[in-house]
Amino acid sequence: MASVRDLPNYASLPEAQTKAYAESLDSQDPLQHLRDEFIIPTIEDLQRDTISREGINKDSPKSIYLCGNSLGLQPRLTSERIRAYLDQWSTKGVFGHFKLLKESSELPPWVDIDDAAAAKMAGIVGAAPNEVAVMGTLTANLHLAMASFYRPTKERWKIILEGRAFPSDHYAVESQIRHHNFNVDDSMLLIEPDSAEHPTLSTEKILSIIDRHASTTALLLLPGIQYYTGQYFDIPLITAHAHSKGIMVGWDLAHAVGNVDVRLHDWNVDFAVWCNYKYMNSGPGAIAGMFVHEKHGKVDMEQLQSGQGGYRPRLTGWWGGDKSIRFKMANRFVPIPGAAGFQVSNPSALDLTSVLASLEIFHKTTMKDLRAKSIKLTGYLEYLLNQACSSLLSENEKDTSSIKSALPFSIITPTDPHFRGAQLSVRLSPDMLELVMVELEKHGVVVDERRPDVIRVAPTPLYNTFTDVWNFVHIFQDACSHAQTQLGDGRDPADVGKDGTLMRDTEDQKGWKEIK
Ligand SMILES: *Cc1c(COP(=O)(O)O)cnc(C)c1O
Repeated sequence: MASVRDLPNYASLPEAQTKAYAESLDSQDPLQHLRDEFIIPTIEDLQRDTISREGINKDSPKSIYLCGNSLGLQPRLTSERIRAYLDQWSTKGVFGHFKLLKESSELPPWVDIDDAAAAKMAGIVGAAPNEVAVMGTLTANLHLAMASFYRPTKERWKIILEGRAFPSDHYAVESQIRHHNFNVDDSMLLIEPDSAEHPTLSTEKILSIIDRHASTTALLLLPGIQYYTGQYFDIPLITAHAHSKGIMVGWDLAHAVGNVDVRLHDWNVDFAVWCNYKYMNSGPGAIAGMFVHEKHGKVDMEQLQSGQGGYRPRLTGWWGGDKSIRFKMANRFVPIPGAAGFQVSNPSALDLTSVLASLEIFHKTTMKDLRAKSIKLTGYLEYLLNQACSSLLSENEKDTSSIKSALPFSIITPTDPHFRGAQLSVRLSPDMLELVMVELEKHGVVVDERRPDVIRVAPTPLYNTFTDVWNFVHIFQDACSHAQTQLGDGRDPADVGKDGTLMRDTEDQKGWKEIK
């Protein structure tokens, strides 16, 4: 994983709290020019109820967009490349599939555009080009991967995942178990955090659950980065441990790809899936990605010819078949070796064009350099948030009997940069969320909320600046202060504990089931 040796110790620098310091970090940032590759919506853009730019104020300040974990911003290049794709279609029609154009480095014939995207994507996930396919959508790819990698037997049939997995992953696993006629209750092993207050999962806990169910588990499925807490799991260690017990390992990298520098091949991951609309900036619902380790993508032609298989079983479609015979329309499936052999359908060239445009921006730098900046940027966010939290407290300590002495917020994401990516998840004290979100929106800050009490703040190293982070924290601190004042007035004193803190709604706690 990336080195954190270069991380400045902001707390030891008295000037680190100043805006001038944030600006100086931006001026020293070797990746600062990449921000210009993106269209950052202005505050006015966000507030208008039309997309028309007619008569708009071009000097409206830019928004503070810290939501790349949910939907990445649009690269300037995307519209240019999509226009070219439309021209390729309008001038060549069906020949666009095969005709080699003079502009082919940017506009490959559509029959090869999936290979071009996979080759460019490989470096982002630490894979060989033939281990990656840009295809399908995340959840559909997860199903395709499980169809191949979850082969339950009477001895080994369980799947280990987190209890707080993204619902789509939970549903996918549950339905795969049912599809194989196993009983969900004794097949799905949900890893739960120790408490609602500390929703992250320790590596020790994960390993111990693997150990406890080692002989009956078929598959381990975890997120590279947890969408809610922002926790980055130790992929190589957990993968190696599960493998030592004979368990297949898949990773959902929705929040990890384009965020942290994963090395899927070297880490010996069996399969991984992800979407390309979060940190990958390819547009809402854009075509997704899948990794299949080379050891699982081999095709043995001799066995195949003699009708004895010769490749890993999977759900198949024509696009996974050998290109040289694809259009012969023969009925014998000969998979393309590697991840491409897991493709099912003719992929959307429009989508792939958008992914390729985004990848062009990624290839102006490296994941290693992006991660190095990200560690500094998120470290700076954490430092400023901690400062804001203590200054909000000390303002209110003057009046200790007051409701206001409750801690306004806490960060639930791990503090160790090795165990997080760009995102920090901030848990607000009860009832503050709506009030804070209104203030943030008013000031052009875009973050995402997870009710009842969490906001996720993700400074992305491609287009966010240290000044964005500084501005955000100042607006956020005012918003918290504003919310505390409003809540301080109308609050029922019975909700206040002895030490002046608000007592938490226990509803949340009830939801934390023990592992089955
Ligand atoms: C974003 C996300 C999804 C979304 O799945 P789609 O199939 O793209 O709709 C699924 N799982 C996780 C963990 C996610 O973060």
